Amino acid sequence: MDWLSKDKNLIWHPYTQEKTAPPPLFIEKAAGAWLYGADGRGYLDAISSWWVTLHGHAHPYIAERLAAQARKLEQVIFAGFTHQPAIELAEKLIPLLPGHMSRIFYSDNGSTATEVAIKMAIQYWWNRSPDGRPARKKILAFRNAYHGDTFGAMAVSGRSVFTAPFDDYLFETVWIDLPDENTWPVIEQVLTAAGDQLAGFIYEPLLQGAGGMNMYAPAWLDKLLQRLQDLEVICIADEVLTGFGRTGTLFASEQMKAKPDIICLSKGLTGGTMALGVTACTARIFDAYWSDDRKKTLFHGHSFTANPLACTAALASLEIFNQEGTMDRVAQISRWHEQAARELPQMTGNRAQMRQLRQLGTILAFDIVQGESGYLNAIGPHLTHEALQKGLFLRPLGNTLYFMPPYCLKPDEHAMMVEKAVAAMHKVFDAASAL
Ligand SMILES: *Cc1c(COP(=O)(O)O)cnc(C)c1O
Repeated sequence: MDWLSKDKNLIWHPYTQEKTAPPPLFIEKAAGAWLYGADGRGYLDAISSWWVTLHGHAHPYIAERLAAQARKLEQVIFAGFTHQPAIELAEKLIPLLPGHMSRIFYSDNGSTATEVAIKMAIQYWWNRSPDGRPARKKILAFRNAYHGDTFGAMAVSGRSVFTAPFDDYLFETVWIDLPDENTWPVIEQVLTAAGDQLAGFIYEPLLQGAGGMNMYAPAWLDKLLQRLQDLEVICIADEVLTGFGRTGTLFASEQMKAKPDIICLSKGLTGGTMALGVTACTARIFDAYWSDDRKKTLFHGHSFTANPLACTAALASLEIFNQEGTMDRVAQISRWHEQAARELPQMTGNRAQMRQLRQLGTILAFDIVQGESGYLNAIGPHLTHEALQKGLFLRPLGNTLYFMPPYCLKPDEHAMMVEKAVAAMHKVFDAASAL
């Protein structure tokens, strides 16, 4: 309680209206799929602590490797200097990545990874123009996308309650809907009109996460990517969320024939242990910066670029993929999700409020139809509250409830997760229909 009153006076939490938000939950420790409060109560982490935790919390192997690295080299400037964890991570990542990536640029988080990608794409055309006036300046993105909270990332993310105060400051983006048979004709029109002005296209492959766990078909994305590559548009796969097994394959981009020119990674990159961002690119991109002219340098960097501890955590996480057969665990979770998807309608008493049950790899999601939809929909906080009472941590996106557990989840924990969520839903539905 003492900690909480200090928190109330000192801290400003993310995405939090401090005046009206309930007090935060004080977490003292964590292990596997569980978070533990100071009173010892456990909470099953059904959203992998904001989509980052892969192998479970406080994984002993990652902790061990981090401790050893911390005693050896904790940080060093990365301009003019280099170190083994950064080189080794690049060496291990490149063959795993879809397409033909040839260079790794490090930063701190997902927003900086996308920010760097956007700058890479824009400056690519600038570097190649003879007079510093490139013909291609625009970025194409999906409506309702989410690529991060810094200004460049916001500019290519859907305009929403999150961006409203800043909309006038965000550069103009060309928008299209997610591709399917209905939206394709309009997409074609946009590409015909603006194709030769497009510097790059940024997209969350197969899954729009923050936009509401919207899933879309690989065949349509493939068609779009092929069309854009014919137009020489630089394709930027934002795999910050989808990377490292989330969609059932190690990277979502494996599920399309057309491969990106740039890939952004963060979240699960370090197993969810440390902040680290990666922007990987092909030789085509890198070669446009290779020059005797200093103006063609990518002038971007962060104090903690390629932090040796973060790179070590990422290396340890990649090793765990082999040690623990992590992709088999991913396949298992997908199967449990499929099973749950079949049972959920009945478990919730076929309540009319449940819509659009959908699943992709380790993500299971559905919408709850009640009142207005959107992020400010009141049902989310009620569900979170009820689930926490039952020892389950959920964090619906507006009226979209989803499960995205860490891969260490055991079968009984999966069953418990679904049961507790259903119990919380019944409680909230009953309270709502009693009004
Ligand atoms: C979370 C997320 C980001 C931003 O990453 P941060 O580390 O939170 O800045 C970017 N793109 C996608 C697809 C994400 O899900």
